[in-house]
Amino acid sequence: MAKFVFVTGGVCSGLGKGITASSIALLLKSKGYKVFMQKFDPYMNVDPGTMSPIQHGEVFVTADGCETDLDLGHYERFIDEELNYTSNITNGKIYSSVIEKERIGDFLGATIQIVPHISNEIKNKIYEAATSSGADIVITEIGGTVGDIESAVMMESLRQIRLEIGIENSLFVHTTLVPYLFGSNELKTKPTQNSIIELRRLGIQPDIIVTRAPIDLGENVKKKISLFGSIPADHIIEAKDVSNIYQIPINFHKQHIEDIILKQFNLKITKSNLEHWENLIKTVESLNQEIEIALVGKYVELEDAYLSVKEALKAAGYKYNTKINIKWVNSEELENKNCNLKEVFKNSKGIIVPGGFGSRGIEGMIKAAEYARVNKIPYLGICLGMQIAVIEFARNVCGIKEASSREFNELCPNPVIDLMADQKAIINKGGTLRLGNYRCVIQKDTLAYKDYQSAEILERHRHRYEFNNNYKDIITSKGMIASGINPDANLVEIIELKNHPHFIACQFHPEFKSRPTKPHPLFDSFIKSSIANK
Ligand code: GLN
Repeated sequence: MAKFVFVTGGVCSGLGKGITASSIALLLKSKGYKVFMQKFDPYMNVDPGTMSPIQHGEVFVTADGCETDLDLGHYERFIDEELNYTSNITNGKIYSSVIEKERIGDFLGATIQIVPHISNEIKNKIYEAATSSGADIVITEIGGTVGDIESAVMMESLRQIRLEIGIENSLFVHTTLVPYLFGSNELKTKPTQNSIIELRRLGIQPDIIVTRAPIDLGENVKKKISLFGSIPADHIIEAKDVSNIYQIPINFHKQHIEDIILKQFNLKITKSNLEHWENLIKTVESLNQEIEIALVGKYVELEDAYLSVKEALKAAGYKYNTKINIKWVNSEELENKNCNLKEVFKNSKGIIVPGGFGSRGIEGMIKAAEYARVNKIPYLGICLGMQIAVIEFARNVCGIKEASSREFNELCPNPVIDLMADQKAIINKGGTLRLGNYRCVIQKDTLAYKDYQSAEILERHRHRYEFNNNYKDIITSKGMIASGINPDANLVEIIELKNHPHFIACQFHPEFKSRPTKPHPLFDSFIKSSIANK
């Protein structure tokens, strides 16, 4: 039977619960255990797919096509395991599934109630994550803060699980804040105490407390939390602020968090293998050069909207001992007549146009793609960034002046990017994009082939519109290559330019498969070319 670690948060959001959960998973994996991760989000959306990235950050996509919270990206990058549809559960998912069952008649005769029907559904999702993954240990993070009305029933389900499977199979980690007050110059434990009381009110006594604080707690503060929280002092794990998040698992390891967990689970405490992670930290701390990459997008006011892209750029930089400074360029600003592109990109060694939806800022992105093409600056286009590159090329090289995407202009006379036939009938917005893994066959003697060193790849998708094959002949006759094709539906997946040192774009999202210790081939070569760009 699998064991379960539950990670909750107190005091306030943004304490790094996701990093805490990922670090615990990484440490348990490094001891040879098979781990799986899951996140519960207490909002009523069925998934974050319909939410604005400016509100909630990027939508991460799993290999099996589930649109998920961005924390799943942290999980995959830390534990280097592919997660799936059981990994991100929302209140919306839980409620709609219970209501669907009620309509079918599954509960015939019963009055449907929060407890037991909703709480049972939540428990089933937790147990399902264990059975479908075959993991030894499942780490489940509960979004939000203890005491939130939205997550109350999730907490109730956790309380019941503890009752069902016992303390040797379940463990509660609670992350809290220990603020430092200037003036009196001391750390304050009261918010942590109150947060533990709040958790107990819901019937849960934490087994481990992870404290976020700007400085070391010191013995006295620890003793106080231990006494008021009924937690052994060595079960208080300090998450001191760090400049590099990869340091956190190592800091936890030094405080033996994984041994405490394994001991409670009666599992063998084996030797940790953290060499790859320690090497990563060494690399990150000894980067010996830096370059600027311009990221041109419409959601740049919130960096989290491009979290995986940012991490993928950084990871590729590590390989070349290079710190990547991202210049966040709001594509709408490039549309201004007085905007001097030469000035904007004067220090940028490469230009990236990542994914996005809707027509705002599109013309600015097209200008950026043109600037990269004409000035021979390395370009990487992702999803929308590929569509932009195709539109720009169609307009400015093939002379199709009104080339655009059906997404930006429904009546567009030259939709070089268009809806696929099977997308036309879809009215619902949620969960109906082309999602998750699709195959792509790569043409030999292309940049894509050089990057991947493989004739066939699998990459994750999240889009509705496609390269319109009616324009393929004219576009390819002018020097754009369709170097990657989905063989099942004959869709263009990768394009590149012949007479350019590095201009490549893909319809899928390579950033989701990048790992800090294993940069994605497309990011790797983009950064390599950008470094070489004088
Ligand atoms: N909006 C475009 C589409 O739906 C691109 C999506 C994206 O960049 N993820 O096809």
